[in-house]
Parts: sequence; C-alpha cells; structure tokens
Amino acid sequence: MRLIFMGPPGAGKGTQAGRITAEYNYLHLSTGDILRAHRKKGTELGQQAQSYMAAGELVPDDLILKMVAAEFERPEIENGFILDGFPRTVAQADALDEVLKETGKTLDFVLVMDVPDEELVARLTARRTCRTCGRSYHLTFNPPKTPGVCDVDGGELYQRDDDKETTVRNRLAVYMRQTQPLIEHYTKQGLVRHIDGVGSVDEVFSRIRKVLESHSHTD
Ligand code: AMP
Repeated sequence: MRLIFMGPPGAGKGTQAGRITAEYNYLHLSTGDILRAHRKKGTELGQQAQSYMAAGELVPDDLILKMVAAEFERPEIENGFILDGFPRTVAQADALDEVLKETGKTLDFVLVMDVPDEELVARLTARRTCRTCGRSYHLTFNPPKTPGVCDVDGGELYQRDDDKETTVRNRLAVYMRQTQPLIEHYTKQGLVRHIDGVGSVDEVFSRIRKVLESHSHTD
C-alpha cells in the first residue's frame, strides 16, 4: 500500500506511521527524520537545512526533492511506503505526482490526521525525542519508563529545538498556509480520508487500520 500521512505538526504522523510499518512492513519515509539525520552527520544538506528547521520554516523545495528522489531509489520502496511530512507544498505534490506517473505507481490513501491547535501546542512542547532512533515520547501521556531515556534503545531523550512554543506556533502557521491547501489537491483525486487524531495511540491506530482494511476488502 502507498500512503501519505498529512496533518499538522504534532498530530501523531510519525508515531502512527511507526505502528503501521511495524505491522505491515512498508517503508516509512519521514523527510523530517532524514533531515535530522543529515544535521547530525553534518552533511552539506544538513547545514543548508539547519536555519530553516530551527525557525520552523520549510526547507526549500529543490533540496527536499533531490533528497526524496534518492529515497525513491531504495528497493524497499516496492513493499509499499508511508510518506510522513512530504509533500508539504504544491510544488512537492506536483513533483510526487510526476514521479508516480513515471514509475507507474498510484497512491492508495492520503490520511489526514485532525487534532485541534491547542492540543498540538500542548503535545509538541512536552514532546521528547530519542537522539538515536528518533522515537517520540510525551512527558505526561506517553512517558518513557525511565525519565530521559528511550525505552527501545536507551538513547538520550532531548527536546527538538523546533518544539519550543514560539517555533511550534510558527510551524502551525506554516502548515495552514503551505500544506493545508494540498488536502484539496488530494480530495480532487478521491484519496483523502480524515482520521480523528484525538485519543490514545491505540485508539487512533485502530481508526487508521479500519481505513486500510476497507481498501484490502474492495481490491
Ligand atoms: P517534521 O519532523 O516533519 O516536523 O519536520 C521538521 C522540519 O523539517 C520542518 O519544520 C521543516 O523545516 C523541515 N521539513 C521536513 N519535511 C519537509 C518538507 N517536505 N518540505 C520542507 N521542509 C521540510
């Protein structure tokens, strides 16, 4: 299955994409995670992206498209994929449409996770992320077993510099302005399914699973 996860920052895209890949073995492509890995390694792309990311602005399309094109070369992509955090602009969506057309692939769903703004701010400012694997936790609703330490690999948990409140508010504004219009783009293609993103990780996951299973039955 080929999916796009769309929704404002903090809606739970990464968490839910992780749950789906664990169960279905699709490739999880998070452009945010890939960019953070570049920053950690200090690559040229990482350095170019740094100031945009710290301000909560989008990294320019040409850099993102080059990076995503390389990911699409990976053989695992054939098992299906979940795009998380991409596309984020109309130009990125057009480029994706083009790549899919060239490779004879189609999308199955664009899942839009809906969560009210104030809950997003509360979620993001209390989010902590593992330096090693990128998994996220919430200080209150999804805390690690040991404070400051990732349950899975023992990595150090830190607060992303763009999870501070002023940057979070800018990221939400950027989402409304640049990414929300894509919902219309995919609605026209008949691909959008809205998912209520409020509730526990399990509750939201079962709503997603219902959508994915509705598709397999009609195939
Ligand atoms: P995320 O982890 O998806 O919230 O992404 C973190 C940051 O990485 C964003 O605030 C942007 O600065 C940058 N970023 C990630 N994906 C994209 C994209 N598709 N286009 C432009 N910038 C992106």
